[in-house]
Amino acid sequence: MLTIIMKRAFEPVFVITLKMCRWKPFSQGLKRKRKVKSGMKELEERIAKDGTVKAGGVLKVDSFLNHQCDITLFDHMGAQWARLFAGKQVDKILTIEASGIGIACVAAQHFNNVPVVFAKKAQSINLDGAQYSTKIYSFTKQKTFDVIVGKRFLNRGEHVLLIDDFMANGKAMQGLIEICEQAGVIIEGIGIAIEKGFQDGGNKLREAGYDLQSLAIVKSMDPETGKVEFA
Ligand code: 5GP
Repeated sequence: MLTIIMKRAFEPVFVITLKMCRWKPFSQGLKRKRKVKSGMKELEERIAKDGTVKAGGVLKVDSFLNHQCDITLFDHMGAQWARLFAGKQVDKILTIEASGIGIACVAAQHFNNVPVVFAKKAQSINLDGAQYSTKIYSFTKQKTFDVIVGKRFLNRGEHVLLIDDFMANGKAMQGLIEICEQAGVIIEGIGIAIEKGFQDGGNKLREAGYDLQSLAIVKSMDPETGKVEFA
């Protein structure tokens, strides 16, 4: 009897609680909470500690990212991309030589060990039709490279995640996208380690509709003081 009285007494409370859950601002709040924050404090702190700001908008991170490689950091970066791209189908990771390779290979371990394909910078293009090719202007080398991917490594309809170490003006990524278009693969997302937010590559690609996730976005950097600010 007491149980029945208690149940009756609390019933309206349960109904109200359930209705509140369906109330839009409340459920949107829950959704917002579940969203994974794209920035990665560990990477930002490492850039602040070991990165060097060079003239011409170049950030040097060769002690941990693209000459000497900190594999534990790479592993954490891969884990973060796996959280950010959770639920997406990833059959392959595509990157570009040289700096993207190590990062992409470690990240692949967080995507069921999918194969990693890297676009090669070629001296000359072999016109036998066995390769997809494009031209990419290099921000750091200030010259244009022919870039190729063997046709047998990208199959029409495959779902691909693009990964690279830096995003500046977006030329490297645009080249990879062009190769994906030639191959007829589906781009599920773009994972970038360091985006220089003061250059427009990242935002152009977001505006074009790509799911671009950068683990650290540099808002500004000063070659005089060496100070790096994050977005
Ligand atoms: P984007 O094509 O977006 O202009 O430039 C991205 C490519 O240039 C990346 O693949 C990266 O290798 C290189 N890059 C661009 N900015 C920097 C930078 O500040 N530091 C380093 N180390 N590489 C950069």
